[in-house]
Amino acid sequence: MSQQKIGTRCVQAGYTPKNGEPRQIPIIQSTTFKYDTSEDMGKLFDLEASGYFYTRLQNPTNDHVAAKIAALEGGTAGMLTSSGQAANFFALFNICECGSHIVASSSIYGGTFNLIAVTMAKMGIEVTFVSPTATDEELDAAFRDNTRAVFGETIANPALTVLDIEKFANAAHRHGVPLIVDNTFPTPVNCRPIEWGADIVTHSTTKYMDGHGAGVGGAIVDSGKFDWMAHADKFPGLTQPDESYHGITYAEKFGKEGAFITKATAQLMRDFGSIQSPQNAFILNLGLESLHVRMPRHVENGLAVAKFLEKHPKVVKVSYPGLESDPYYEIARKYMPNGGCGVVSFELEGGRSAAEAFMKKLRVAAIETHVADARTCCLNPATSTHRQMTDEQLLEAGIPAGLVRMSCGLEDKEDLIADLEQALS
Ligand SMILES: *Cc1c(COP(=O)(O)O)cnc(C)c1O
Repeated sequence: MSQQKIGTRCVQAGYTPKNGEPRQIPIIQSTTFKYDTSEDMGKLFDLEASGYFYTRLQNPTNDHVAAKIAALEGGTAGMLTSSGQAANFFALFNICECGSHIVASSSIYGGTFNLIAVTMAKMGIEVTFVSPTATDEELDAAFRDNTRAVFGETIANPALTVLDIEKFANAAHRHGVPLIVDNTFPTPVNCRPIEWGADIVTHSTTKYMDGHGAGVGGAIVDSGKFDWMAHADKFPGLTQPDESYHGITYAEKFGKEGAFITKATAQLMRDFGSIQSPQNAFILNLGLESLHVRMPRHVENGLAVAKFLEKHPKVVKVSYPGLESDPYYEIARKYMPNGGCGVVSFELEGGRSAAEAFMKKLRVAAIETHVADARTCCLNPATSTHRQMTDEQLLEAGIPAGLVRMSCGLEDKEDLIADLEQALS
């Protein structure tokens, strides 16, 4: 199956109906599953047989969609979570515990930054943030004996920096730990981090994968490549018996290909229960069926808008890795030869008041905190999400008051540019 091209996988992977079965993935809207004998169900609880017993842990609809996302990323196993936040938390917490340490790129989504720097810190998990442009020496210096994972985003939201996946993967592997990459913005249509050495890939499926602003969700994919047993002392949760599952050792029983996702499902989903609803998984799959058709259009619109803004006298600066003037242009070309995404950020001359006036004039682009939707949307952090901060505080945080983040949708680029032109004038 993985021999098929990416578009065919978007449409067909994960679900093959048998004779007379529904063509579309059925929504199994059931909390529980019925068995003839207690022994039958007991085998499932002991992970001796595969099957379903309770939708807090697993549901067939979700598993079809997760299998599609795993096929898209070129991984061996996948799971859906209730949100992107849950996906990143599970991916990290599956191998970290109190006393562990994470090396993370400092250029990541604000929600993930909070999760790692504040909430996971309360669990006793420490972090060292490194620049996405860190050298090998700087990366090596960030590791400690208790480091258990490296984390970064392919294209960071909203900074639009690009991760040097190979460099970060090599550093992680030199220190015997996996690289986890949040691949939300490019999606596997434009970049497949596993092909560049990433071990675990995560997604906020809320963004381009759903693509229609319809359902919040997340996903985790395991490459099946990381050898937990070779670093057994670092990952006891995978390499030593789990007493809550009658002494199963995940890495032994499920191998490199299945251990990570089985443990995350059997332990973390069981205990935290952040599963995606089957209804949302169905909606997500509708988005996935056209992902390979939509992504090139998002890229086309993003690049056209970025080029227009770059030449405009009222625009101080444009960030878009597809622009030749962007510091991440070369590295973006290496990892994303067909382009990255449709999100562009730019700084208006005149700061907060100019941005406020500009936002009011937009007709096609809507004001939203969302990104990666079919409909174009814009956000000026200074007058919305970050309005409690002064201009000075905003500058310190790297978010100038005149900064606008624009997520280019699937409309005609001429209309997006005309909307910007009238709002700017
Ligand atoms: C939105 C986003 C998240 C969080 O996802 P939710 O689905 O909103 O929980 C994580 N990472 C990136 C890169 C995002 O853009």
